[in-house]
Amino acid sequence: MYETQLPLDPDQLAIRDATREFAAGVVAPRADARDAAEEFPAEEIAAAAEVGLLGMTIPEEHGGFPLDAVSVALAYEEVARASASVSVILSVHNTLVAQALAEHGTAEIKAQYLPEMAVGRCIGAYALTEPEAGSDAASIRTRAVAVDGGFELSGEKVFISSAGHAGVIVAFAVTDPEARTSGRITAFVVDPEQDGVEIGPPEKKLGILASEICAIHFDQCHVRYEAVLGDVGGGFGIAMGLLSSGRIGIAAQAAGIAAAALDKSLEYSASRKQFGQPIAEFQAIQWKLADIATALDAARLLIWNAARLKDAGVAYGREASQAKLFASELAVRAANEAVQIHGGYGYLKSYGVERLYRDAKITEIYEGTSEIQRLVIARGLLAQERPRR
Ligand SMILES: Cc1cc2nc3c(=O)[nH]c(=O)nc-3n(C[C@H](O)[C@H](O)[C@H](O)COP(=O)(O)OP(=O)(O)OC[C@H]3O[C@@H](n4cnc5c(N)ncnc54)[C@H](O)[C@@H]3O)c2cc1C
Repeated sequence: MYETQLPLDPDQLAIRDATREFAAGVVAPRADARDAAEEFPAEEIAAAAEVGLLGMTIPEEHGGFPLDAVSVALAYEEVARASASVSVILSVHNTLVAQALAEHGTAEIKAQYLPEMAVGRCIGAYALTEPEAGSDAASIRTRAVAVDGGFELSGEKVFISSAGHAGVIVAFAVTDPEARTSGRITAFVVDPEQDGVEIGPPEKKLGILASEICAIHFDQCHVRYEAVLGDVGGGFGIAMGLLSSGRIGIAAQAAGIAAAALDKSLEYSASRKQFGQPIAEFQAIQWKLADIATALDAARLLIWNAARLKDAGVAYGREASQAKLFASELAVRAANEAVQIHGGYGYLKSYGVERLYRDAKITEIYEGTSEIQRLVIARGLLAQERPRR
């Protein structure tokens, strides 16, 4: 198993090792079967809750098991090494939803949802994307009209991870259509069981087949004032702040996919013989292994750097985008090389790298495409330059 030799503190190493053991014992044995059946990994998520993996961003006072951002990233990477699907369910739940409630929820909302989320009885979904608003999230159209005691939400969300299994949805809607980006959108906590919420069937997709995405239709769904996250009109800032944090999680997921691809490639190339010798003896194969290992170390450094900045309370948006961009493009490359190194066997389901190949692609798309990450990075660079002119 490939390891990056870097100084993590003993607590972080303990989290990494415990999650690795959990992933190997509980997630990995069922990962191919879940993928083949396109089945939500409910038992794995319940088991993950038992070891604290659903409460990583929830304060202790609300029943959680809070960890520093580096440890959270290590946990996502280790789980993704076994199953990218399970990793993204954990990442959306912890980083996009539980964190949103913990940071921006009213005392009532925190008390209602966080203890249940920490023990896995309530899974989180994050509903921002709409049919006409993906990368341009500020242009969402779901409308929240002020009514007696709160708001009524109407509109359509698409691609919402875990929606069919969610116990709570963080949904974004327009409260002031006349306002510019800032002030236009508000974040709400919505109960999927309530009137006016309809969850569509799971979409058929290319990879991460054990995770689900569904459309959500809101039709005059009543949300109380207490269920507003942060301030009315402050939703876009909340959405973007959560996505910066989420991008560290997706970068870690991508690193996990790349690490699994490298592990399988090292193992296979050492045992597969052609022309009378292991294929690992051929320089063409060695260079692939060396390039992926080097890039994986670089990806981990970028991820841990962004996570450390987050823990230090320093702005980390550009660094999170750099980590996500680099790690996701690495995941696609590493999975592709793993299939190549396995030759024809890599194309078969039974050798495991075919799933990595399908799972890697989404990391370049969700929580901001690679094009959007480059945009965020460039904006950060240019903003740094501006004062010097
Ligand atoms: C499996 C899966 C899970 C998802 N989970 C969630 C979820 O839980 N919650 C949620 O809210 N959303 C979720 N999404 C949605 C996801 O975040 C969006 O698909 C993604 O942000 C891209 O939006 P889009 O698909 O509308 O593509 P578009 O925005 O239409 O982009 C199409 C292409 O144009 C490019 N492009 C767009 N704007 C620019 C620009 N300014 N400069 C250069 N290129 C540009 C893009 O990079 C892309 O290549 C999920 C999607 C998938 C597939």
